[in-house]
Amino acid sequence: MAALATTPVRARVLGIPVNVSNDVFRDAVALHGAGGGQIVTLNAEMTMAARADPALGAAIEAARMVIPDGAGVVWALARQSHRVRRSPGIELAHRLLEHAAMHGWRVALVGASPAVMDRLRDRLPHDLPGLKLVFCVHGYQPAEAWPGLERQLLQCRPDLVLVALGVPRQETWIQELPEPRGGLWMGVGGSFDVWSGVKKRAPAWMGALRIEWLYRLVKEPRRWRRMLALPAFAWAVLRERR
Ligand code: UDP
Repeated sequence: MAALATTPVRARVLGIPVNVSNDVFRDAVALHGAGGGQIVTLNAEMTMAARADPALGAAIEAARMVIPDGAGVVWALARQSHRVRRSPGIELAHRLLEHAAMHGWRVALVGASPAVMDRLRDRLPHDLPGLKLVFCVHGYQPAEAWPGLERQLLQCRPDLVLVALGVPRQETWIQELPEPRGGLWMGVGGSFDVWSGVKKRAPAWMGALRIEWLYRLVKEPRRWRRMLALPAFAWAVLRERR
C-alpha cells in the first residue's frame, strides 16, 4: 500500500492511538488516494472499551486513521500539548458522502435497521445528486447471510463503505475482512439513524458545553452502564503521567 504524502502524527490516549490532525477530511481523501484503509472515530467510551477488549484494541491499532470524535479525547490530547479540534465522525462521514457524489465514488452502506436502511437508500441519492450507491444492506441479517454479503460487497470494489453496526462490532467486522480491500472503511455508529430522521443529534449548544453525553443519556437511558466509562476515562487521564 502506498504511503500517505504526509504521515499524520500519532499520539496515544491511555495507550490507544489517535491521529493529531485538524483536517480529517483532507487526510481521509489522501488516504483514499493512497490505497485506502480503515477510519476509526475515537471517543472516551470507546477508548475505555478498547482497553478492556483486545479485538477492539487490535482493530484500532491496525486502522490507518483514528480521528478524535469526542470532547474527552480532545481534552486528553490537550494535556499532552496536542491542540486539535473535535472531529465528529458523523460530520466526516457526511462530507465524504458529498465528496463521493461529486467524484463518482462507489459507495456502500452496511448496518442499521431495515426501515432506516430503506429510508436512506431513497433519501441519500435525492439529497446528494450523483451519489452512486453500489451496495446497501441493513445490519440485522442472520449470521449465515454475512459471509455471502461480505463477498458481494468486496466484489463491488467500493471507494467508501460506511458501517453502522455499533461499537465494537463495526470496527472488528471491518478489520476482519480480507485484504486488500481498497477504499475507505469507516464505522459510523448511529449516523444512519440520524440521517434517516429516526434519531436527532444533540443540539449544538450541548456540543459547545461538551455535554452531548447527557443528551444521549436522557434519550437512551439504557446507555447508563456504558456511560460509567466517562468518569473512569477522566480519572484515568488525570492520573496518567504527562
Ligand atoms: N445495529 C445493527 N445491527 C445490530 C446492532 C445494531 O445494524 O445487530 C445498528 C443500530 O440499528 C444502530 C447502530 O447499529 O443504527 C448503532 O448505533 P449506536 O448509536 O448504538 O452506536 P454506538 O454508540 O455503538 O457507536
